[in-house]
Amino acid sequence: MVNKDRLVKEFLNLVKIESLSKQEGQVAKYLEGVLSSMGIEHYLDNAGEKIGGECGNLIARIPATNPNYPALLFSAHMDTVGPVHGIAPMMDGDIIRSNGSTVLGSDDKSGIVCILECLRVLAEDKIPHGHIDIVFDVAEEIGLLGAKHLDFSQFQAKMAFVLDDEDIDRITNRAPSANRMTYEIRGVEAHAGMEPQKGISAIEVASRAIAEMTLGRIDQETTANIGTINGGTATNIVANYVKITAEARSHDPAKLDAQCEHMKQAFLNQLSRFEKTVDGRKITPTFMEDRQQDFVAMSVPESAPVFQLVKNAGKRMGIEITAKSGGGGTDGNVYNLHGIESVVVGTGMKDVHTVKEYIAISDLVLCARLLVTMVEESAKYGNK
Ligand SMILES: [Zn+2]
Repeated sequence: MVNKDRLVKEFLNLVKIESLSKQEGQVAKYLEGVLSSMGIEHYLDNAGEKIGGECGNLIARIPATNPNYPALLFSAHMDTVGPVHGIAPMMDGDIIRSNGSTVLGSDDKSGIVCILECLRVLAEDKIPHGHIDIVFDVAEEIGLLGAKHLDFSQFQAKMAFVLDDEDIDRITNRAPSANRMTYEIRGVEAHAGMEPQKGISAIEVASRAIAEMTLGRIDQETTANIGTINGGTATNIVANYVKITAEARSHDPAKLDAQCEHMKQAFLNQLSRFEKTVDGRKITPTFMEDRQQDFVAMSVPESAPVFQLVKNAGKRMGIEITAKSGGGGTDGNVYNLHGIESVVVGTGMKDVHTVKEYIAISDLVLCARLLVTMVEESAKYGNK
């Protein structure tokens, strides 16, 4: 049976360990100790070296106790967003919240403790299960970096459950693709008071281009945003440089491409308009784009075993679990991309990425129970 006191104690221990992205060394060390005390085989992979972090992803595996059960993968990330300095969780009846000056870190330490509690219950109650892969990864919050550096050949599981969402009764089975862009515009510097006509303002080029763009909510499944804009040096200098960062997302990869092209074209359209001849020499602004794929869309049908398994486990517990379309990327996008069918399961965490973050103890208990029930339910899916 899920042990509420043990679950809460472990959660409080974990959230008090600060673990910003790439600074997960302490929390990984703590978790290695926990896994060792449970007699679970584990190791850190080399993702930390590849991304310049303190440590790699923490991988654990539990051998099957019954070969007829399918292999399952449970995953939660060790890093949190800030501010984290001096996290002091406060208990308020059923609620655990931050003291208002930091995040709580239930994103995603609630996922980690629910997985640990599930493993403890499986062992204590001798609940039969198939092979279990566990991933506690790094640097999720800064572009799914830990998951992107996983060696997927090491996993037996063909189904993955990413514990990294808010509501327990809504699982995310669809999420968009996203691109991150950096645009650089170079103009021509000139004295703004003496001879501005000899310059080209990179700021003006950028403004006119952005003004022509369709941004924000493009359609039901597509969004775009200019995130930052920096440039110029002084009021009396015609600015010769502007750097802009932006993103676009869509559930439809073709629409994502079209939106990114539209944004690029808006800049290109301005270049010839600003072309001029100064002292017999032709000058034009220049433009550069760097477009990076942030994550690739996922779309898992509700009929898929990975979805049905959670839904049916919920049903056994009297919870009606429904599908939800996510607006952001999670490690689930990465697992699906690598052929491990994955959905994102909620833990009850609320107001994440703010200093108002909180979670109900009853939800932590419910989530841990759901995981145990999922393992029990998995018997029906066989080991294919
Ligand atoms: Zn998260």
